[in-house]
Amino acid sequence: MNSLRNVLPKTLKQLGLINQFKAESVTLNWRQMVGEEIAAHTRPGRVRRGILNVSANNAVWAHHLSTLKEEIMDKINAFMGEKVVTEIKFQAGYFQKDQNENNIENPEPPVPRWRDARLEERELQDIDQMTADLADNQLKKKVKTILVKEYSLRKAKRQHNWQACPKCGVLVTPQESLCSVCSIEEHQGQVDAVRKYLIHAPWLSYEECNRYIACLRTDFNTVKNELLDKYWREVEKDDADRMKIMTLAMLIHGLQPHALTEELIVKTLDKVRRKKHVFTSRR
Ligand SMILES: [Zn+2]
Repeated sequence: MNSLRNVLPKTLKQLGLINQFKAESVTLNWRQMVGEEIAAHTRPGRVRRGILNVSANNAVWAHHLSTLKEEIMDKINAFMGEKVVTEIKFQAGYFQKDQNENNIENPEPPVPRWRDARLEERELQDIDQMTADLADNQLKKKVKTILVKEYSLRKAKRQHNWQACPKCGVLVTPQESLCSVCSIEEHQGQVDAVRKYLIHAPWLSYEECNRYIACLRTDFNTVKNELLDKYWREVEKDDADRMKIMTLAMLIHGLQPHALTEELIVKTLDKVRRKKHVFTSRR
């Protein structure tokens, strides 16, 4: 494949089109770029400023793929003939398909393909116009092909009642409210909010926290354990300040500051320091 760089056009308008072309190319040619096996477990998002967000169908795959990141980036960039992707973020996503795998009565409708829809003359003319400024004929042909595929795919999806993700505009199935990449981001936002809340009010139980921020019990527990761990390590240090010791005590006992007794604070400190002593003397 010829390098895109050699035929890259100069004007901004053309560059905008080229960037779209590159971003779409990665999504449309994903299977060819990364192979059947990886493609079966992943969904690529769009390339934004060189960063490609990829959702994997579970945490194991997200981890496995992150170890292959450089290799995958090389494959994509080799396919594209230039460095289109400089970073890939793999995240464990929520595949509608996985949740419905055992649902035999209600099988997932097949994902529309670009061949399922035909563009009208008017739409083809639009694409002709968009690419009219491209002087290089070889490039023009490539860009046109990608645009026709992309527009056809969007049309096919719309015909199957897919709708725009309200956050980023990518088309999603009628069952999904957000695209997989945005739903991961939203979930991450929720977890961050729970963390902030719990740092300010360490005594909160799941039920209390859930009244202010809708969250899953597993997320709450993960955040709480993470904070317990963090403050435990802080209090282990000899110069730990009183605020940190109190925070740890509130996390452990679920008590508000006014309910913490001096005795409880001393006990908490003793417990941490004693464990540290046992641990270090064992080594
Ligand atoms: Zn989205």
